[in-house]
Amino acid sequence: MAHPTRRVLVVGGGTAGSVATLSMRQHGVDVVLAERQTNWSTVGHGITLQGNALRALQQVGVADEVLAAGYPWDRVRFRSADGGLINEMPMPPLGGPDLPAGMGSMRFHLQRVLSEAVDASGAEVRLGKGVDDVLDDGADEGVSVTFSDGSTERFDLVVGADGIRSTIRGLIGIQEQPESVGMAIFRMEGPRPAAMTCSELFYGGPRYKAGFTPTSQDRMYAYIIDEDRRIEDYGDRPLHELMMERSQGYGGLWDEIRASMGAETLIDYRTLEALQIRGAWHRGRVLLIGDAAHACPPMLAQGAAMAAEDGVVLGELLGAGNDTEKVLAQFMDRRQRRAQMVVENSVQLAKWELAPETPGADAPGLMGRSMAVLAGPY
Ligand SMILES: Cc1cc2nc3c(=O)[nH]c(=O)nc-3n(C[C@H](O)[C@H](O)[C@H](O)COP(=O)(O)OP(=O)(O)OC[C@H]3O[C@@H](n4cnc5c(N)ncnc54)[C@H](O)[C@@H]3O)c2cc1C
Repeated sequence: MAHPTRRVLVVGGGTAGSVATLSMRQHGVDVVLAERQTNWSTVGHGITLQGNALRALQQVGVADEVLAAGYPWDRVRFRSADGGLINEMPMPPLGGPDLPAGMGSMRFHLQRVLSEAVDASGAEVRLGKGVDDVLDDGADEGVSVTFSDGSTERFDLVVGADGIRSTIRGLIGIQEQPESVGMAIFRMEGPRPAAMTCSELFYGGPRYKAGFTPTSQDRMYAYIIDEDRRIEDYGDRPLHELMMERSQGYGGLWDEIRASMGAETLIDYRTLEALQIRGAWHRGRVLLIGDAAHACPPMLAQGAAMAAEDGVVLGELLGAGNDTEKVLAQFMDRRQRRAQMVVENSVQLAKWELAPETPGADAPGLMGRSMAVLAGPY
């Protein structure tokens, strides 16, 4: 029997969960959003939002505010380790001609804009609330959810937007787990050198790659992609000292960036991981979206874009009033191939960065083909 989706629980209020909530609210669906953090803040690292991410954000009405808090750009520069210019390439406008090709921003700006929009959307937001169990009784009965405070409630659909270490994924018996791609990343946030006007990537240096992106008129983030070592293996040295050391050998604006690093600098270190679920991203009426379903290393800077696109598409399909099972099948049709392409190509690019002498390695070609697909409809 047909069973339309009237009331949805979204678990996780990051990019995927927030955009899905906004899109569902636009289409008249009742949403409860449960976010386990109490203050819904995000630690502050930089993020690159490409045109297709901006297009998805525009569809849920927040692109202007996100753009106002960031630094848009339309080109990328490739450099040798000493800072010499190899190539300057215009970026394709993946979001169409009315949006910038891309922008740098800080995650907390993006999250602030999304959270405020979710609050204004009429969704019921429950902060400090996780989910301990989900039970789909099948047929038309919906899903029974046990929250971390012991309360239970029923929903027509549960959306697990709870990130790469998703609890919901485990609860519905999907076995795939994130795996290291063999690299780690140091990321720092700091003042923008005046000459930094777009993303720049440095190849051929002592580490796999280095780069930076302006995030506002005053600020930027910079990163070093390095071997995958446990941070403990470096001893108990402070992160800014380590990043300063690991960035030696990179020139150009890196001299200015290093000079700005100190004990107060916001620095993050983590292994780069990928996750791909081979089959459907749902079991019964419990669906995974965003990093919970597909996560990629940032070689194409597409993780948040895929998360946002998932959210937009889910809202559109639910708004059409179709039976939930049909919506889930349509969702997989529209999302799986595209997200899978992003994960596979990002992992391939990571492999070529690990072993640049690999016969047939063609990073620019693969990036170009990926961008051509991403510029298309989803
Ligand atoms: C080093 C690095 C650099 C990156 N750079 C870029 C980039 O430049 N551009 C880009 O597009 N992408 C980038 N990404 C990827 C991007 O960050 C992710 O793809 C994106 O944040 C995924 O969003 P999400 O909403 O799916 O997950 P998340 O942002 O992880 O959000 C999940 C949310 O769920 C909440 N949660 C978790 N468990 C529970 C639970 N049990 N109950 C309730 N709430 C829960 C969490 O608190 C969190 O708020 C990068 C990733 C990494 C690791």
